[in-house]
Amino acid sequence: MRKQRTLCSPIKASGIGLHTGRKVEIELNPAKENSGIVFYREDKDVEIQLSEKSVVDTQLATTIGKDGVVIKTVEHLLSTLFALRIDNIFIKLKGDEIPIMDGSSAPWVYLIKTAGIVEQEAYKKTIIVKKPVKIKENGKFAALIPSNQFEISYSISFSNTFIGKQRMDLPINENTFIKEISKARTFGFLKDIEYLQSHNLALGGSLDNAVVVDEYGIVNEDPLRYEDEFVRHKILDAIGDLSILGLDMKGKYIAYKSGHNLNNKLLRKLISDKSAYEIAINPTREKKAESLAWGCV
Ligand SMILES: [Zn+2]
Repeated sequence: MRKQRTLCSPIKASGIGLHTGRKVEIELNPAKENSGIVFYREDKDVEIQLSEKSVVDTQLATTIGKDGVVIKTVEHLLSTLFALRIDNIFIKLKGDEIPIMDGSSAPWVYLIKTAGIVEQEAYKKTIIVKKPVKIKENGKFAALIPSNQFEISYSISFSNTFIGKQRMDLPINENTFIKEISKARTFGFLKDIEYLQSHNLALGGSLDNAVVVDEYGIVNEDPLRYEDEFVRHKILDAIGDLSILGLDMKGKYIAYKSGHNLNNKLLRKLISDKSAYEIAINPTREKKAESLAWGCV
């Protein structure tokens, strides 16, 4: 059992949205213990408390929303917050999409490490997977099974393409995330891009924030950051999707060709079956912490 954490100081950043192509300013702020992850659309004056129920769309990216106000492409930031164990944070933005940055989590890791992380008084709850929960759909598969740590086994198969079959098995913690996962970028196929853009998607997509694949290899001049960068990015996305419960996880996530949609269905299925999980109870605290930022230097 560990204590909750937040940022030491606010972070300001800006960038473009992958799907909208619009510039967005974003501010990540420290927040009180037990407040969780809260997004605030400053331009609409709407607050969205993150939960599995706040997910309103999973086409190509994970979109959260409330009262018709949405925030798109939250998964890379959420993945980073989960892996770096930032439990309480107030995220302000003027716009409807999280900046894509370089298509990976590496810029978020850098910004959060620079701002500093501080431990708070309250303990963090953990969801413990007690029995297997599975979802199968159109040849895709996602499951959570019991394990004594949070780990992922992910397989992808893009037959007849440069990507081919890739598989990775990894326990997920701050170190493995930073080293093995955080730098893996979003990817897409050149042949899909025209179609996506005609449907007003991927408008901000470019070789600066995505790996683009054609029949022969990658279009980008820079080399891949990992030989199997594609499956690693799928793991990055899955961590973001699984983090939406706001709980640490003890369990093994197994996926074959899964995506945001299946991941969200899997979480909802887990939560709907009370015999499939247990939430580790916090030790009671005697005194509430007054200060947010003790321990920051
Ligand atoms: Zn992604």
